[in-house]
Amino acid sequence: MILILLGPPGSGKGTQAKRLGVEEKWPHLSTGDMLRSAITQGTQLGLKAKTFMDQGLLVPDEVVIGLISERVQQVDCKNGFILDGFPRTIPQAVALGVMLNALSLHLDRVFSFEIKESELINRLCGRRTCPKCGAMYHVESVPPLQDMICDQCGTGLVQRADDQIDVVQRRLKVYQQETAPLVDFYRKEGRLICLDAAQSANAVALELKKALTA
Ligand code: AMP
Repeated sequence: MILILLGPPGSGKGTQAKRLGVEEKWPHLSTGDMLRSAITQGTQLGLKAKTFMDQGLLVPDEVVIGLISERVQQVDCKNGFILDGFPRTIPQAVALGVMLNALSLHLDRVFSFEIKESELINRLCGRRTCPKCGAMYHVESVPPLQDMICDQCGTGLVQRADDQIDVVQRRLKVYQQETAPLVDFYRKEGRLICLDAAQSANAVALELKKALTA
């Protein structure tokens, strides 16, 4: 099964992709995670990507297309995968189509995570993450047991540079301009399923599962 989870930052697509990937044993391909890992490793690609990411801008298409194109050719992707945060522009979606064709694979479903902008701002600005194990918290809705300490591994939590209010606002604007047109792109292809992403994570997971078995 090849799935795309499409939605604005903070809509919960990463949480759902991670969860579904573990349950179904489908690799979870997140371009955001790949880029953050390149930054941590201090690679050339990471250095280049960081300047865009810290400002809430998209990394150039050719960089992320290159990353995904290498990843989908790996053996663990041959029975399917979940794309989270890719594609984010029409040229990326077109490149994905070409890639899948070349590998004789086909896209099964595209889930659009729908949610109000005010809720996204609250979710993103209150988000705290563990730089070591990746666990996520929220200052109001999912606080850690001890202030700013990860419950799982005891590391100090951080606020991602791109979760600061001015950067969040830019990311949402970029989403509307560059990524939102993909909803119509995939609707026209007849692959789109819309989800109410303002529900609890468990309720969204149930809706996703139902749509997958329908
Ligand atoms: P995410 O973790 O998916 O919210 O991604 C964090 C940041 O990584 C984004 O704000 C972009 O700067 C960059 N990024 C991730 N995926 C892409 C993509 N497909 N195209 C361009 N930039 C991306």
